[in-house]
Amino acid sequence: MFDSRGQFIGGVALAGEEAPEAVFNPASGEEIAQIASASRTQADAAVAAAERAFAVWSRMPPKERSLRMLRIAERIEELADEFALLEMTNCGKPIGTAKAVDVGNTVDVFRFFAGAARTVPGVPAGEYRPGFTSMLRRDPLGVCVGIAPWNYPLMMAAWKIAPVIAAGNTVVLKPSEHTPLSALRLAEVCAEFLPEGVVNVVTGNGASVGARLVAHPRVRMVSLTGDVATGRKILEAVAPTIKRTHFELGGKAPVIVLADADIPAAVEAIAEGGYYNAGQDCTAACRVYAHGAIHDRLVAELQRAIEAIALGDPAEPGTALGPLITARQRDRVDGFVARARADTPAEVVTGGFSPNRPGFFYAPTLIAGARHSDEIVQKEVFGPVVSVTRFDSDDQALEWANDCEYGLASSVWTQDVGKANMFASRLEYGVTWINTHSVNVTEMPHGGVKSSGYGSDLSVYCLEHYMTTRHVMMKH
Ligand code: NAD
Repeated sequence: MFDSRGQFIGGVALAGEEAPEAVFNPASGEEIAQIASASRTQADAAVAAAERAFAVWSRMPPKERSLRMLRIAERIEELADEFALLEMTNCGKPIGTAKAVDVGNTVDVFRFFAGAARTVPGVPAGEYRPGFTSMLRRDPLGVCVGIAPWNYPLMMAAWKIAPVIAAGNTVVLKPSEHTPLSALRLAEVCAEFLPEGVVNVVTGNGASVGARLVAHPRVRMVSLTGDVATGRKILEAVAPTIKRTHFELGGKAPVIVLADADIPAAVEAIAEGGYYNAGQDCTAACRVYAHGAIHDRLVAELQRAIEAIALGDPAEPGTALGPLITARQRDRVDGFVARARADTPAEVVTGGFSPNRPGFFYAPTLIAGARHSDEIVQKEVFGPVVSVTRFDSDDQALEWANDCEYGLASSVWTQDVGKANMFASRLEYGVTWINTHSVNVTEMPHGGVKSSGYGSDLSVYCLEHYMTTRHVMMKH
């Protein structure tokens, strides 16, 4: 069992004061911790600690903030094995990717925003009206609340902390009740280098602890990565106090494979990007549209590639596919597959079952013959399930790709540069990959349109969301 006190408030680890949440190892199904949730008083105390720290942190020169963030990055790198083990145990991530990707990205994000803190751009000061000098200020907002999901607990904690503090704000982070362990450890690491109260973590469920933080009158901004329904609730909750919001919500990425595509490359990318993190990824390559000329070949080659994916113990170096986060999520995924089988012409080509082993595993699943309007094509499954839908013309593929409530990620597969550019210009998605899928870089924005939300994580554009632009004018 992990010994975690569950709350990190004003630089001190504390036990929660409310009923505990059980935390599981999804690969074994065993309980690994009981974490008492934060009380309302503790949530308020975290906001108060962050507000006190804001007076100190926001006045620190960017260079000083930056140096401290670089030290945090170095320390996370030193503790890479410990963080990877936490992500594997609490989330079921294969140990190799937990270390290389989850910890690696976390380090990179702290380093990137440490640099960005020192290079905030703006319109130059000057006389834009005769007799008056105008100056631009980019100031931090105050206390920001970050609400994180369970699919990348450490990375999402980093995405909700690094840009926020780089901009001079302070933060209260609420990780998912299913995956609080790595965020709590990250808060301890941050506290080694930051004034007390700059980074606080409180845990518990969304309806109680999350809702209290979001509605708190002293909080200036709420950043959520989570479900669309949660985004709606937060918008309602912030209305009385008019807070800035930043939403990274779900996705249902179309993967458009045109007649001239490099099929082996597309197969490799879908077998990787559709099943990475057990498909619990908002950019997962899960909604394939295949041109009639290559449809059957694509499905046959995909089947072979998917059946070769190594599902198993995340501690084994060769494992590529770990479990889903909870038994509930596994059953939810199975429900989608069962409805696709029963209600539509779709055919389960491979997978479609829970392997007979402990933990919350689901076999990598490929569904062919799905119609564009089917639930399995339209709704976010958040599991290792990819659907393939046949199309006849490029216009139809574009129309179907955009006919979706989400707008986060998309990809198009073609050797024709003109067609690739046409699709990239007309797809209504935050990112369009050409002949690749699910490759992120910290320098570029990650964010969506439509119900996928607004605002971007990563890049210098992210920093802008956590600052306010102010005008100071002096009369000569
Ligand atoms: P979720 O919305 O259920 O929970 C996310 C967080 O919100 C949790 O910490 C939860 O406790 C909290 N929460 C729930 N209700 C709340 C409320 N009323 N007030 C305040 N906080 C509340 O999402 P999840 O199940 O943890 O994660 C899966 C979802 O996240 C998927 O829909 C997925 O697409 C999305 N996601 C999006 C991105 C992205 O970048 N766009 C990245 C990862 C995950």
